[in-house]
Amino acid sequence: MLTAKKINELERMACQMRMDVVQMGPRSGNVPHIAPAFSCADIVSALYFHFLNVRPEEPRWDERDRFVISKGHGALCVYSALAHRGFFPVDELWKVKQAGAMLQGHPDMKKIPGIDATTGSLGNGISFALGIAAGMRLKGRTGKVYCLLGDGEAQEGIVWEAAMYAAAKKMDNFITILDYNHLQGSGRVDDIIDMEPLPDCWKRFGWRVLEINGNDMREICSALEQAQVFHGGPTLIVAHTIKGKGVSFMEDNNDWHSKQVTDEQCAAAMAELEAQYRALEAEQA
Ligand SMILES: [Mg+2]
Repeated sequence: MLTAKKINELERMACQMRMDVVQMGPRSGNVPHIAPAFSCADIVSALYFHFLNVRPEEPRWDERDRFVISKGHGALCVYSALAHRGFFPVDELWKVKQAGAMLQGHPDMKKIPGIDATTGSLGNGISFALGIAAGMRLKGRTGKVYCLLGDGEAQEGIVWEAAMYAAAKKMDNFITILDYNHLQGSGRVDDIIDMEPLPDCWKRFGWRVLEINGNDMREICSALEQAQVFHGGPTLIVAHTIKGKGVSFMEDNNDWHSKQVTDEQCAAAMAELEAQYRALEAEQA
């Protein structure tokens, strides 16, 4: 179990990542995907700043854990995490989506240190991640593969091929986290294809399923700790999240799936996030 101090540190890093993401649009001059990154920032913080066994100075280290962000539009918070973890300079964040820049709208494994799979073609990431996990098991590697799956992309057929295979082959080095924010780029997931009861579908395939508040750091860390030691099959963490979490006018508002902030909106968002950061600092003092 993590200490209160460590939980606070992970919460502050998630807040830092949200502040970075808000500034990426105005500083780069390009339209960012803010809300999809905000919904999973707490999960990505827990992974990169506690759970993932990775080496920034040796990004292709064979024994590392792997992380695949299947929901490619959450990439901006992963870029922030990688920069603060030391994979590349923070300055790269301010060039996002510029012509020739390393960081684009979707993560590219051939260009970005620390990215294990090129994703953004929805649904493909989880099958890519499962292939990595199968290869690691064949080679006797001890690392685990973590995959962050969007709820909208769970409508893709290739997701269910991965769900079947992972359970049938008892892939206990494979942990998938479902970012269940009930929104996808084109609307409400439940209006487009209602997949409920989604957790039960995975259980019936043979997955161990945990359900948490995916914006609560204690619940995230507790679930990941359980998933790490579970043997006999894959784990799905159904993380109930809020798209746009952290900035009041972006929360559960799909306008912010992909949209540039005005100077006033950027200032308002930063004021809210800075207040959250200061409150976390005060809690720790
Ligand atoms: Mg979603």
